[in-house]
Amino acid sequence: MKALDVAYFSMEVAVDPAVPTYSGGLGVLAGDTLRSAADLGHPMVGVTLLYRQGYFHQLLDEHGRQSEEPVSWSPKAHLEPVDARCQITIEGRIVQVRAWRYLVHGVTGSDVPVYFLDTAVEENDPIDRELTGTLYGGDGRYRLCQELLLGVGGLGMLRALGYRDIPTYHMNEGHAALLPLALLLEEVGDGDPRNVSDAQRTSVRNRCVFTTHTPIAAGHDRFPIDLLRSLTGDEHPLFLAALPYSPNGELNMTHIALACSRYVNAVSQLHQETSEQLFPDHVIHAITNGVHAVTWTSPPIAALYDEYVPQWRRDQFYLRHAGNIPLTDVLDSHFQAKAALLAETERRTGTRLDPKALTIGFARRAAVYKRPDFLFSDLDRLKRIVDRVGPLQVIFGGKAHPRDDEGKRIIERIYQARGTLGSQLCVAYLDEYDVTLGKVLCAGVDLWLNNPQKPHEASGTSGMKAALNGVPSLSVLDGWWNEGHVEGATGWSIGESADPERAEDELASLYDKLEYVIAPLFYRQPLAYASVMRGAMVLNGSFFNTQRMLLQYIRDAYSTREMN
Ligand SMILES: *Cc1c(COP(=O)(O)O)cnc(C)c1O
Repeated sequence: MKALDVAYFSMEVAVDPAVPTYSGGLGVLAGDTLRSAADLGHPMVGVTLLYRQGYFHQLLDEHGRQSEEPVSWSPKAHLEPVDARCQITIEGRIVQVRAWRYLVHGVTGSDVPVYFLDTAVEENDPIDRELTGTLYGGDGRYRLCQELLLGVGGLGMLRALGYRDIPTYHMNEGHAALLPLALLLEEVGDGDPRNVSDAQRTSVRNRCVFTTHTPIAAGHDRFPIDLLRSLTGDEHPLFLAALPYSPNGELNMTHIALACSRYVNAVSQLHQETSEQLFPDHVIHAITNGVHAVTWTSPPIAALYDEYVPQWRRDQFYLRHAGNIPLTDVLDSHFQAKAALLAETERRTGTRLDPKALTIGFARRAAVYKRPDFLFSDLDRLKRIVDRVGPLQVIFGGKAHPRDDEGKRIIERIYQARGTLGSQLCVAYLDEYDVTLGKVLCAGVDLWLNNPQKPHEASGTSGMKAALNGVPSLSVLDGWWNEGHVEGATGWSIGESADPERAEDELASLYDKLEYVIAPLFYRQPLAYASVMRGAMVLNGSFFNTQRMLLQYIRDAYSTREMN
């Protein structure tokens, strides 16, 4: 076995469609990163939690009101139990931690193991058995316990598995920020944690790498320091070690991770600028996210790449050569992907959509900043567009977090708009948005819409999945699209408002682009539209993938061993 280079810690990992241990983009990125590591044969392991009830099943009634049910799935059907055990202490109780392994198989025959931590162990107190119940469920206490489990339990598990000298610990978002504190405790050993030396701190910092994902101060994971005290005890070294990183009586996971990492990066260039404003005391680099190309390319488009770019499965730089694919082949293959989506839409909703109509897709977590119902801000204008240039139809998907009432109301508003628009503009909302549906949805529409409130979208990745499938984006110039956008060549921008509070200007730009640029091109010049589709593959598919991303991590983040 090659020596391990990187241990990758993430609160959620989407490793397999049958393993429901993720909620959205963060978990998908983690899964895609580990898949690319396996492809490249880079020695990594993943560490995450098991979540026996998953995130949740989404139920939508006829008004679009969401309710939730726990997911039931069988870990042993998809994961392999390992013998290793470790313990963490919570409120004075010893909590036994076990793990399950999933092997990610790469294209060249290498594997990357992912360990799912699990506290549903006979010996544990019932309250502790529930710790690996649901993802992002429960209250602050529950979440901090899970973060203790990830950071402290995760390190303990790696040691129990025999991993000792790991050059890099990569924290995917701040949830894992107790990990460097656990490393510090290892350094201190029996010593007094109040007297941690600079050399000990440096030793920890030189092993940690941190990717921040949250561009808004309020979005960062924070806990009252008293909560940590109640979990780990006044005298517990973890509590003491946390103190210098926790001003104002607050445990701010991002601040800990920033202070304890030799390399910190944001997930797009724009997000780097936002993060440097948020954290002026830290140097923050940028490595723009990607998606795992083979995972997210639909079967008909993959067949096209196999024919014209045979090396693409192993090396995605070659997707540049997709420029040689005849435009009629692009259209034919896309038509197959669209047929698959329309069949799935009919199966799920009974709605039969028109395969010839310009079909817009919007699917992501139903969070307020993503503004899923933005397109429906002016229904009269939308109807005029349809009258003037031809039919439009829109397919939505996305879950609102169970406690996000605002997010749930957005789904209801989309249902209302659907009722108002009737047959003038067909709208379908597909429930249970997950990676399986995402693959069909991103590939099958003609246009991928993205209208977050800038600068809230740190990167966004669903538009990258669309690009790999030759689906152009119409998007606000936020996150990755600020880099991926070449007007009229990879898709289209939604112009910015001079005043960020003036959504009207953005909305006018969105409608204008649809009415005067995109729909006319789609209906009157299909080959010119296909050329934009191919542009998305060539320029964006070849770049916004996790293979390129991981190569940048290896070069810039993993191989610099000293603080820079
Ligand atoms: C890709 C993906 C996401 C992330 O999409 P964004 O555009 O980054 O919001 C979320 N959920 C699922 C199921 C996905 O496949």
